[in-house]
Amino acid sequence: MADWTEIATRLAEEFAERAAEVDRSGRFPVENVERMQEVGYLNIAVPEEFGGGGADLATVAACQGILAGGCASTALAANMHIFGLGSAAESWSAGDRGAEPLFRMVAERTIVGGSLTDAATGLNVRTSSTPAERVDGGYSISGRKSFCSLAPVLGFFWGTAADTATGELLLFGLPRDTPGLEFVDTWDTMAMRGTGSWDVRFDDVFVPDAAVQRGAAPGDALVWDVERERGFAWFAITVASIYLGVARAAARFAYHHVTSRTVTGASLPMARQPAQVFNAAEVELLLRPAEALVSDGLRRRAESGPLSPADLNTLKYAAVNAADDAVDRCVRMTGGHGIFRKLPLERYYRDVRAGQFHPPNNDVALETIGKSALDIDPLAEPRWPAD
Ligand SMILES: Cc1cc2nc3c(=O)[nH]c(=O)nc-3n(C[C@H](O)[C@H](O)[C@H](O)COP(=O)(O)OP(=O)(O)OC[C@H]3O[C@@H](n4cnc5c(N)ncnc54)[C@H](O)[C@@H]3O)c2cc1C
Repeated sequence: MADWTEIATRLAEEFAERAAEVDRSGRFPVENVERMQEVGYLNIAVPEEFGGGGADLATVAACQGILAGGCASTALAANMHIFGLGSAAESWSAGDRGAEPLFRMVAERTIVGGSLTDAATGLNVRTSSTPAERVDGGYSISGRKSFCSLAPVLGFFWGTAADTATGELLLFGLPRDTPGLEFVDTWDTMAMRGTGSWDVRFDDVFVPDAAVQRGAAPGDALVWDVERERGFAWFAITVASIYLGVARAAARFAYHHVTSRTVTGASLPMARQPAQVFNAAEVELLLRPAEALVSDGLRRRAESGPLSPADLNTLKYAAVNAADDAVDRCVRMTGGHGIFRKLPLERYYRDVRAGQFHPPNNDVALETIGKSALDIDPLAEPRWPAD
């Protein structure tokens, strides 16, 4: 097997050189995607039988953390392709052959991703405000979705819509050149500016029945099974690693800054000031427990099988919030230098703020963790106001 850690380190160094320009312009770094294709990184988790890297979740999470230290936008955008393939690869190893067409498609360098988010439904991905009208042989879909990372380069799009007759949630997959499907550049944000997370517009798009998987109908109970855990674990753990990777990059920057700066009149570098020593300790005391939770989750999952919703919510919440707080302290360590756009710290500071919005967002995570602590089924209703 390739040395993925070494490959991720090399890519991170290369992407770091253009990360500031990508962030400043808000453009999507197509050349980073080409490089990741070239070295096989985008298919790191695809089974080796299909020409992929065959890497497990622990390896992918570690590599995504490293990559995020170079360019957080690139790591996060690539993750939307990688995490679904990783979860499908685990199902493949367990004997489920359903993802074979997907693996064949990505072996031909197709990039996959999607949007489960409607402007109206926000992060409640159990429902969709995009209507799907039953027509002969399939559905006609019109509407708009948002937050579709990788949109500039996607070859295959996943989305959700609701059957107008039954309210059932439909998951559908479409090639990019499907008539009526359009990607619209709306992505001008304060964080993760290079992820190309555009809107997607559907104008009477025909989706054949063969491209549709049926999801939950209104009122269906939520089920926590191996399949659901796989998708969620691959997403939550890789996202946790990405944001911890950004915070580690900020820590490296701040530690180097205080170690190499000696102010006029002082005989020793700033790092010897007690305030800086305590700040560094605080950064470590935020990051190390969060990193340990991620490692512990990976170890328990590898040894004993699926994690619980509370486990995954806990590690994702701990990681993204520790990353936020740690970068705040890094800014305090570097003082006024921290806000200069010529230095990377203010980009880390902005990028790391997006971690809380990925599912499970902070409030949903708190609900799940709290219910679990109080011995209430974490999936018990009421959860969403309309349920
Ligand atoms: C950089 C980036 C890239 C992304 N890429 C993708 C992608 O490629 N594909 C994709 O599908 N999505 C993507 N997302 C979208 C993301 O997964 C969320 O779906 C998205 O942020 C929409 O949620 P919202 O923040 O608008 O939430 P809303 O649903 O509008 O919620 C706003 C706030 O209300 C509160 N809230 C709402 N409902 C509840 C509830 N039930 N319980 C508790 N609190 C609640 C929360 O505090 C929440 O923060 C991306 C997001 C980011 C930031």
